[in-house]
Amino acid sequence: MPSSDPNCLFCKIIKGDIPSTVVYEDAKVFAFNDIHPDAPTHVLIISKTHTASHLETDDVQLYADIMQGAKIVAKQLGLSDYRLVMNNGAGAGQSVFHMHLHLLAGHPFTSPAG
Ligand code: 5GP
Ligand code: ZN
Repeated sequence: MPSSDPNCLFCKIIKGDIPSTVVYEDAKVFAFNDIHPDAPTHVLIISKTHTASHLETDDVQLYADIMQGAKIVAKQLGLSDYRLVMNNGAGAGQSVFHMHLHLLAGHPFTSPAG
């Protein structure tokens, strides 16, 4: 069983205790629509193993899992153009401390993060 934090919003979403619109799930990864989308497509990709942030883990397998999960989601949704964003720390916009990727698509983007 992947490690879970009973007080973590995203761990509760993985367990189904808080409902979400699931886009993709496998043994390691869970992907669901963001409740406040910033783009026509806005999917959050998380590891089923709880870790607070990029800075908080050295388990590179978790990075690989969510990056691969994002690609599976992109292919599943038929996307050829998409942006992956990870906020790390409150000062950088992280509000949920369970490491996650934002997959954003469906409107034009400016470089690097507009
Ligand atoms: P962060 O700001 O930490 O990078 O991203 C957290 C994201 O989680 C935000 O984009 C926010 O809209 C989303 N979010 C917060 N609470 C919920 C929720 O209960 N359900 C879903 N689906 N998304 C949520
Ligand atoms: Zn968690």
